[in-house]
Amino acid sequence: MRKAIEMHESFDARQGSDSELVPSRNILDAVRLEGRAVAALNFYNAETLRAHINAANSLHASIILQTTEATIRYLGMRMAIGMARAASEEIEQPVALHLDHGGHYELAARCIEAGYTSVMIDGSKLSFAENCSLTRRVVELAHPAGVSVEGELGHVAHNDQAGDIARFYTDPKTAHQFVSETGVDALAVAVGTAHGFYKGEVRIDFERLSEIRDSVGTTALVLHGGSGISDELLARAIECGISKINFGTELKNAFTRAVKTSLMASDEIDLRKTFLPAIEAVSEVSASKIRICQRETGTASAPR
Ligand SMILES: [Zn+2]
Repeated sequence: MRKAIEMHESFDARQGSDSELVPSRNILDAVRLEGRAVAALNFYNAETLRAHINAANSLHASIILQTTEATIRYLGMRMAIGMARAASEEIEQPVALHLDHGGHYELAARCIEAGYTSVMIDGSKLSFAENCSLTRRVVELAHPAGVSVEGELGHVAHNDQAGDIARFYTDPKTAHQFVSETGVDALAVAVGTAHGFYKGEVRIDFERLSEIRDSVGTTALVLHGGSGISDELLARAIECGISKINFGTELKNAFTRAVKTSLMASDEIDLRKTFLPAIEAVSEVSASKIRICQRETGTASAPR
């Protein structure tokens, strides 16, 4: 544990770097102390990013922008980072750029080197010892560079996965050991959510979540698979200690449906006109998720 604390100290000293993007730890600590969460919004192209900028500013909120490896391949690493930096200059509140589900050390290292301010290293399919060691290596590389790290313990399944997902749930006791040994800033937990669209009723194990929260100190807890979960369940998850909620599927869905509708409705070929309703549709979803994370009810001005 001492080693982990030392690493946090050297990390803290590096706050306020040249980049407009901040380490996700800064945002996570702030929302955790306020009993709120931050919306971690995946972006895929300029349109979805524009939607998130508009939503964040309409609610004066910090957000975490994130990309998966597939998006890095699609946009190119430089483009992804350049876009996120430009977005952070437009957004009033602090913004982090996070690698979602980094599957291997080399990818995390490339992102740290290139300008991401936060990376997830997903060793959830490895043994506990292998996951610990991989995650620890990424923390050792990331923290001196002022980059935050998210690990995953237990495994957040995909909705297509057959069988009982409860067998992958995070164990509170090993969660304590994992954060102590790795020094991660954030921990993705498996407590009942899944990736993709939900087929049946979502059941979140809130008792387990509270136990995990009590066992991991100041490490932020992350809920993956936030799309399609009711506002009430998300609010309760935040109450039980979740500080970051990931949203991807619902954003992609809103975008694609709006583009389809707009293409079917006319022969318009000006893609700035075709994509505009999609930007607005995504922005509405982003804003609704940010509002849940802010834990404020009532309506804010519609994002523009
Ligand atoms: Zn995920």
